[in-house]
Parts: sequence; C-alpha cells; structure tokens
Amino acid sequence: MKLSFAALGAALLLCVATQASAHEKHGTAGATAAPAIAGWWKGNTHTHTWWSDGDSPPESVAAWYRDRGYQFLVLSDHNRMQEGELWYPVDTDQKREALETYRRTFGADWAETRERSGLTEVKLKTLDEFRSLFEQKDRFIFIRGMEITDRFGTHPVHLNGVNLERPIIPQGGDTVATMLQRNIDAVVEQGRRSGRPMFVHLNHPNFYYAVTVEDMVATDYATGEGFFEVYNGHSGVRNDGDAHHPSTERMWDIVLAKRLAERNTSVLYGLATDDAHEYTRWGLRQVNPGRGWVMVRAPRLTPDTITAAMKRGDFYNSTGVQLAKLEMTGTTLALEVAAEPGVSYTIEFVGTRRSRSLAGTAAPAPPPESPGRMSLAYSDGIGEVLRKVEGSGARYELTGDEIYVRARVISSRLHPNPFAEGDREMAWTQPLVPQR
Ligand SMILES: [Zn+2]
Ligand SMILES: [Zn+2]
Repeated sequence: MKLSFAALGAALLLCVATQASAHEKHGTAGATAAPAIAGWWKGNTHTHTWWSDGDSPPESVAAWYRDRGYQFLVLSDHNRMQEGELWYPVDTDQKREALETYRRTFGADWAETRERSGLTEVKLKTLDEFRSLFEQKDRFIFIRGMEITDRFGTHPVHLNGVNLERPIIPQGGDTVATMLQRNIDAVVEQGRRSGRPMFVHLNHPNFYYAVTVEDMVATDYATGEGFFEVYNGHSGVRNDGDAHHPSTERMWDIVLAKRLAERNTSVLYGLATDDAHEYTRWGLRQVNPGRGWVMVRAPRLTPDTITAAMKRGDFYNSTGVQLAKLEMTGTTLALEVAAEPGVSYTIEFVGTRRSRSLAGTAAPAPPPESPGRMSLAYSDGIGEVLRKVEGSGARYELTGDEIYVRARVISSRLHPNPFAEGDREMAWTQPLVPQR
C-alpha cells in the first residue's frame, strides 16, 4: 500500500494557527495539534460522559473535542450507549458546576431537569437527540461505541467496541484470556451480522495489571486484525509498567513478535486514547481529555470509512507530534514530522529481528506492593531500536531479517497536560510487516 501526501498549503497553515489560538484561550486543555494534512482525520475512540462515570453531560464533552479540531469521537460509556431514559442526579458541587456550564452553553430550555427529594436530576439526551447539534460534513461526526466493562475476580477487563450498532453485554469467562476472547468474538459477530466495519480494542492492559502479554498473544481475531491501547491518558492505568511489569509499548513488541513469527497470526495495532472522565478539573492527577489521539487516513469522514481505514492500519497515534508524511510500502517505512519552530525531534525505528529468541521465562512472584498478574520475562532483543535519527524526517528500508518495524517520534517539547510528569509529545506509527 503506497500512500502519498500533498504538501502543506497556506490555507492549512492558517488552520493550524486558528487551532493554536483556540488552545491558548483554554490554557488548561491538552495538546491540540490539528490535522493539517488533507485526508487525515483526528479522533478519539475512548471517552466518558454522565451516561456512565464521566463528570459532564455528553454535549459538553462533544463540544470540548469539536472545538479543539477533533473530527470524530466515540463516546464510550461503561456498558451502555447513549440511549434510553436516564435521569442523572446532580448531588455534588462539581456536578452542579457542570450543570451550570451545560445550561449556559446549550440553553436552559435544552437542559431538562426535575426535582426529586430535594435533588436536581437531569434527563440525559440520547445520541440521536444531540448529534445534530454537532455533526457537520467533513467537520465532525460521532462513531457509536461503548466500553465493554467486564471483570474477572479483581481483574478489570475492558474493551471498546467501535462503530457498534447495539450494546454488547459483557460476556464473562472463566479466565482473563477467555473473557477477552468472548468479548472480542461478540463484537466480531455483531460486525458480521450487520455487514458494517467494526472493531474492538483492548483497553489499558496494565490497569490493575489485569492482562498479560501471553493473554494478548493467544487472542484470535476472526477479522484478521487486533487492536489495543498502547497509550491511555487515564492517570491510573500504568502505561509505563513498573519493575515487575512491562510497559504497554514493550508488551506491543513482544506480542507482535510472537504473534507474527511464532503463531503466524494477525498483526496487533496500537492506539492512543484519552479515556477522559474529567472536563471540569484539570491537572496531572485528573483524567482529562486531549492527551492522546489517533490520526486516520480515510477518503471520507463517515463512521464506516474511518472504521474501515483503522481496520487497514491506516492510522498513527499522537500525543502532540503531527506527521506531514507517512509512507509504508512493502519494504519501506518513511515519515516526516510537521516540524514546529524551536522544537527538535528524535525518530526511532523499533523492531524485532528473526534471529532473536522469543522464548519467555517465568519471572519471580511480585512483591505485595505490585499486585496483579505477571507476564513472562523476555529477551531485550525483542523491540530493539534498529535505527535512530535526530531530525524531522527519516526512512527505514527493511533488510529482510525483521519480523516487523514500527516508528516512534519523540519531541523535545513537554506535553502540556501529561499522563505522567515529564512526558514529551510523541507519535507512534503502526508496524510495517514484511510480506511473507
Ligand atoms: Zn476502562
Ligand atoms: Zn474508559
């Protein structure tokens, strides 16, 4: 698949400038790089509203994203879609504040409330009721979805269904791996019956260290491609792992190497998402929007075309670094950053050579302060940096002994509202897998 891209035009640069000033006006907001390249759409597939445990009504959430240059959004509430009747109790000062903002922004006549036992309740609008306030051709759409929220003992097992038609009931299972498989199968089955493109992504595998590398290696995707969150903006999900658990990025490398070389099965795509819950308080320990997103290359902005493009792997992830060019052919992975003045970039090509041992060995049991499940330990030869370039453009030609190669870009600029203190703005491509 060869991708080509138009150069940055003056009008597009103007668009970037507009975004920047909007960002300054909401100084506490997260990174807001706009899609300056024609044919690329910016979106987030994981965010919460009052329909579950988000801290704001869905219209306030949607407005946050739309006003910051996002073009698509999945409101992924826990175990429900935004449909049916739900009266939401406004029982804290923070919720009263969110209700005030809601009334001010959308009008007192739009917000439907009632008093019950001295408590104000808001009747939440369904997606079908509020979507027309936001959706606009080539500007902004919703993609229907939800967070399938399952639990095995103390281990949370969460997956997002994207472009769903109907809610998926958590499927349960007698192991974490079985639970994963059953929920994935349920989305695949709904996609097959509907005839529409759908996918499911495993969320935050290191949340309570519930999901291991081996669970992810073993999962089967009947549609031929799997997805997981390599970056999740929720402050509690341990993207970086700890002394006893691999980071999500290292998990990605181990899973890719073993799935592709040992199991001869499907690729695993990585996603960056916000998993935002808080839109009224901002800071390091808050679970804010704008931390991580996907950029999808698709011919049109519709739920089906965006979903289909992601199923082809035609997207990259960002926490602030935007690409001006991304080319993935049979043997080449080349990219160019939409470089910003005064910012420098390091581009790393990460991969695993066929000669590396992929065998896992049992690690010692973790101490009580690091609970959860344990992955096996693997060689450092998995996920090595094959080439490193200081600059805003780089190219990697496959030599023939790589199982896969992917690229990440690390900016010199700090993330304005990071997942963890000191995080720099980054981008991650999907893996390039040589034809076999
Ligand atoms: Zn979750
Ligand atoms: Zn979530």
